[in-house]
Amino acid sequence: MSPMTVLVTGGAGFIGSHTCVELLEHGHEVVVVDDHSNSAPEALERVAKIAGRPVTAYRADLRDRSALDAVFKAHPVDAVIHFAAKKAVGESVEIPVTYYDINVGGTTALLSAMQAHGVHRLVFSSSCSIYGDATKVPLTETDPAAPTNPYASTKWICEQLLADMCRRLPELSVLALRYFNPVGAHPCGLLGEDPRGIPNNIMPYLAQVAVGRRERLSVFGDDYPTPDGTGVRDYIHVMDVAEGHRCALEHLDDEKGMRVFNLGTGVGSSVLDLVNAFARACGRPVPYEVTGRRAGDVAELVADPRAVAAAWGWTAKRDLGVMCRDAWRFQELNPSGYAAG
Ligand code: UDP
Repeated sequence: MSPMTVLVTGGAGFIGSHTCVELLEHGHEVVVVDDHSNSAPEALERVAKIAGRPVTAYRADLRDRSALDAVFKAHPVDAVIHFAAKKAVGESVEIPVTYYDINVGGTTALLSAMQAHGVHRLVFSSSCSIYGDATKVPLTETDPAAPTNPYASTKWICEQLLADMCRRLPELSVLALRYFNPVGAHPCGLLGEDPRGIPNNIMPYLAQVAVGRRERLSVFGDDYPTPDGTGVRDYIHVMDVAEGHRCALEHLDDEKGMRVFNLGTGVGSSVLDLVNAFARACGRPVPYEVTGRRAGDVAELVADPRAVAAAWGWTAKRDLGVMCRDAWRFQELNPSGYAAG
């Protein structure tokens, strides 16, 4: 396809930065808008280093309409990939209004700017969390949404408002991608996941235990109705997710309106599967202890990834061993994350 100018909101974050590399390596121009509330500008320096091309970046909040207008005026944006959002489930329960304001308000502000500047293509970052306490394995896109926390609700509300916009504005093409559990890092070790503070998610936590920054992993419950009693998730390599976004861009013009796809592998792994795979990757045991369940957690979430495979011929390629190997390489080379970079 011919190269596009792609506006990537949240482009300095974990999935955003890996997607920027993938887009640059495929000849697209990338313009990032990020407020760095949960990301380091250093990530973009590394994106440019890996891709061998600069990234144009703006520090701005999406709800700042004049800042957005300036970006759209300065660049001939062909399509937008919208990652920028808050994403911590526990925090969303504490400060729900902030989550609605940033995640939903950010999306409507972006849509309004897109409309004002004649941009009609959007890839939206959604989440498997919208399925809630799933009653079925694996999950297809037509299974009902039942969010159990404000974070998941904001993603579901955004999907619904995007679907409605598509019904009202026939020129719009929107792809919402529901990621399962993105983990791993760029294989070169320069780019990875570097959450601020204590990691909420298991993979960065495991990596920090392995590198000696934390004592042991707490395994949140071993009394779930799963083979070993620990929670089962569909972990997907962040490079597969990045490639999925590049593919999505190439398929935005297939049809107008809203389409929704799961991005997962279809393979479920338990917490203990992950701990064991990580120990193999880093060559040392990773200490853990079983503690109580985490509020709001569900037993099992696994994607049925067949719809996107049928539509685009795209599937995730990297297995759990590669995910752990790459996450470990990033952690080992960057024990303090981007801070020392
Ligand atoms: N988990 C865990 N210890 C941790 C973090 C997570 O045992 O310190 C478990 C969690 O209960 C779930 C799985 O690991 O079964 C994935 O959790 P994560 O927060 O990474 O992603 P989520 O599926 O909640 O989006």
